[in-house]
Amino acid sequence: MKVDFRKITAKAKSFFLEKDGVVFSGVFKKDRDFVDIDGKLENEVEVVCDRCSKEFMIKLDEKIHLKACEGIFKGSLEDSDVVEFYDGYVDFDEILSSEIESIKIDYHLCDECKKEDKFEKEF
Ligand SMILES: [Zn+2]
Repeated sequence: MKVDFRKITAKAKSFFLEKDGVVFSGVFKKDRDFVDIDGKLENEVEVVCDRCSKEFMIKLDEKIHLKACEGIFKGSLEDSDVVEFYDGYVDFDEILSSEIESIKIDYHLCDECKKEDKFEKEF
């Protein structure tokens, strides 16, 4: 889903998209030079256990607050992450892909390895 930046107004619009079973929904609106995106990630995503390499599903329920800015962003914002977009379009698919990517590269342990962890700590 690509949205034309020129058509985004200060009136919040809702969006909904899905990729690999992950649902990304919320609202976006124009905020000065930015597009303010307030949404959440839900459902499940497949991750790989960092210890035994087993693939397993984790539940997602995460709030996402982003500001999209055209071109390279210089500076910093306190309250939200900034994503850059080019060609005048905010690409929500790309935002969702990179959110999924960053969840996947997090550290994950499957249930069995978590149990083992606990076992090791007890003895
Ligand atoms: Zn494991």
